Amino acid sequence: MPQIETDYLIVGAGAAALAFADTLVHETDAHITIVDRRAQPGGHWNDAYPFVALHQPSAFYGVNSLPLGTLRKDTAGPNAGYYELASGAEVLGYFHKVMHESLLPTERVTYRPMSDYSQADGITSLLTGEKTQVHVRKKLVDANYFGPSIPATHRPAFAIADGVERVTPTGLTQHWAKADVPPIHYCILGAGKTAMDAGVWLLTNGVPADRISWVMPRDSWLVNRATTQPGEEFFHAAIGGQAMQMKALAEATDIDDLFLRMETSGQMLRIDRSKTPRMFHYATISEGEVELLRQINHVIRMGRVRAIERDALVLEAGREAMPADTLYIDCTASAVEPRPMLPIFEDHKITLQLVRAPLVSFSAAMIAYVEAHYADDAQKNALCGNVPFPKEIVGFVESMLANMQNQMRWGQDKTLRKWMHESRLDGFGKAVASILPTDIEKIAVLNQLRSYSAAAMANAPKLLASWKSGS
Ligand SMILES: Cc1cc2nc3c(=O)[nH]c(=O)nc-3n(C[C@H](O)[C@H](O)[C@H](O)COP(=O)(O)OP(=O)(O)OC[C@H]3O[C@@H](n4cnc5c(N)ncnc54)[C@H](O)[C@@H]3O)c2cc1C
Repeated sequence: MPQIETDYLIVGAGAAALAFADTLVHETDAHITIVDRRAQPGGHWNDAYPFVALHQPSAFYGVNSLPLGTLRKDTAGPNAGYYELASGAEVLGYFHKVMHESLLPTERVTYRPMSDYSQADGITSLLTGEKTQVHVRKKLVDANYFGPSIPATHRPAFAIADGVERVTPTGLTQHWAKADVPPIHYCILGAGKTAMDAGVWLLTNGVPADRISWVMPRDSWLVNRATTQPGEEFFHAAIGGQAMQMKALAEATDIDDLFLRMETSGQMLRIDRSKTPRMFHYATISEGEVELLRQINHVIRMGRVRAIERDALVLEAGREAMPADTLYIDCTASAVEPRPMLPIFEDHKITLQLVRAPLVSFSAAMIAYVEAHYADDAQKNALCGNVPFPKEIVGFVESMLANMQNQMRWGQDKTLRKWMHESRLDGFGKAVASILPTDIEKIAVLNQLRSYSAAAMANAPKLLASWKSGS
């Protein structure tokens, strides 16, 4: 069996893997081998639906050494006035460039696409079946632990009667090729960001709202896109917004109260103001998109789908009659499945996880920087506390608390502080660092942020305790 040697074997070539590899290659002399089952870099973006876009601005997604996008603003549609969101195709093109124009030319990176890795068999080519043994001199890097489940590769967990048409969001865009006439009715299944994208896409492409139904098992709190914008003109929405978020965390009496406060001060949105959301996944959306989605009146809140029959939906809480020729758009893949948190650094292994939620790219790059510059695993783990990805509303408080604890640790470490200030992936850090001492108005916002953050850290454990005692 052929054998290769490498310092770091990274399993996965998605956003996390490439952000890690990019920082490691710039900070060390190590040799890296990247293995992925897919044919091209970019991970799940290879299978994304045509109208997918990043949730967050391009400005701080991707790898540290190469900007994504051009800082253009959208001029039309529900995101007009906000910085561009890369389309799925742009994200894939970007990751292709990262691999072929940045990583491979260093001659310290080997890329093995169409290859599976397992501990038992090493690298197996999915094209020839040939196996290669790998001697890893330093570390095995699991860059798939937080890989999302997406509609194209997900199997529905409900029965579908003969004659019922179910499509993924990709199938929705291709449906015309096999149908003689357009569907008379559409039904979106799922309450996550993909379902919202499908709704916005149908409405902006001219489908009347009364021809759309929406199965929404749970309502979700959503991050207001205005608060995630990188430009100076958004300083008050973004950094001021963070201060307001900290104020809400500091003053809230329970978690529902916290979200209501953040809605009032403009950080959080919900589609139906008469419902109390139980879900929070960091889905990010603009007020324009929320306004569009509010046009859909036939929202079915009867739990999850159990089965689709020719003329009805069977749901956890009952049946709902549906037009016979409805096209069902399956958006039920639950992007980020909850997984137990593992130590990030263990003996000869690194498991990439979030150290700042929800930023996958920043987290992977930060872990690479810590790997490159600190000596032992205990110290590295102390600098890289795991941040849980939320599912329920309580998860927001848990992830904010862990984010703040990491931020404090990094703030006390001169080397990390410097790296963060220079990193394009730490969008807000740079905005804060660039404030001139003479800019009294912005300094006041910053002082507010600091004092509310301290109070938020003190109140967050109380909010968590009140949630636990109430549930
Ligand atoms: C629609 C959508 C929009 C999103 N928008 C954002 C956003 O704006 N900002 C943000 O930070 N996050 C966003 N996310 C979250 C997303 O998780 C990250 O952006 C990121 O793309 C995930 O990358 P990853 O590398 O963790 O996982 P993946 O993209 O899933 O990559 C893992 C790779 O590992 C490979 N692999 C797995 N096991 C093996 C094995 N044994 N051998 C070989 N290869 C293997 C897989 O083939 C896969 O290519 C979004 C997610 C979705 C679904």
